Amino acid sequence: SAHIIDGKQIANQLLDEIRINIEQRLTTGKRAPRLAVILVGDDPASAIYVRNKQIACEKVGIVSEAYKLPSSLTQNELLDLIRKLNQDPATDGILVQSPLPHHIDESAILALIDPNKDVDGFHPYNIGRLAVRQPLLRSCTPYGVIKMLQASGINLKGLDAVVVGVSNHVGRPMGLELLLAGCTVTSCHRHTKSLAEHVQRADLVVAAAGRAGLVKGEWIKPGAIVVDIGINRLPDGKLAGDVEFEVAKQRAAYITPVPGGVGPMTVATLMENTLKALALREPA
Ligand code: NAD
Repeated sequence: SAHIIDGKQIANQLLDEIRINIEQRLTTGKRAPRLAVILVGDDPASAIYVRNKQIACEKVGIVSEAYKLPSSLTQNELLDLIRKLNQDPATDGILVQSPLPHHIDESAILALIDPNKDVDGFHPYNIGRLAVRQPLLRSCTPYGVIKMLQASGINLKGLDAVVVGVSNHVGRPMGLELLLAGCTVTSCHRHTKSLAEHVQRADLVVAAAGRAGLVKGEWIKPGAIVVDIGINRLPDGKLAGDVEFEVAKQRAAYITPVPGGVGPMTVATLMENTLKALALREPA
């Protein structure tokens, strides 16, 4: 049976390091990092994510400022807010919680964020930096997965990795992170002919499709590493990942649970990015 990777514990260790780092800043007269969190509309899942991010900020000593805006907000109003925060010297990080209402073009919003304040790592500049092996602010979830695997003592070099999902926010930067870490990467998506065949030969499977039970437990190669990014709400109200956990854990060497796996790492790397964003803008 697999070792179950405790993402919550690894994330708490990272949060502790960040907290100590910020405390040391304060004792030397430097200011705390400041994160602006923008939530548009009343999606309940988004409200929970924003709340978790604010709780983490409090834990580590990052000042967070929430902008809770109605779904009637226009694209121009949101662009104006981003411009204001870009210019505000006291704001280090700007996070726009996705999804945005349909009348707002998310890519136009993300493209306007100052790349040095782009703590989600979604700006084309930061994705490009990762693609050319000079990562700066790295997308939180994929970066969190890398940190979690490293903290678990896993050597990624040379592994055959299969990523399921190729979204701009998750699957695509995940593939780039694994390539940077030395894996041989295959990216699967909704047009992939045989998902099963790819997963069956993977040393490392990273599922990020948002489809409960998509990755069958019997597909997992004995001894493989299984990372489940998916968060799916089941009809009974419970949360589940994309992987059939109970069967997969009998075959895998390592596996992440949902919840308590990748989710907490995403929040912790957001905190790390916010501290890094402050350092980027500070004179040396
Ligand atoms: P998305 O809907 O934007 O992308 C889904 C991707 O999966 C697409 O690239 C699509 O081609 C692929 N896909 C869909 N059905 C497939 C199939 N049957 N076979 C193969 N590929 C298929 O979603 P997203 O924003 O990338 O999020 C993916 C999942 O990760 C969601 O469940 C989301 O809630 C979760 N998520 C978790 C965290 C975290 O911190 N744990 C963070 C972000 C997103």
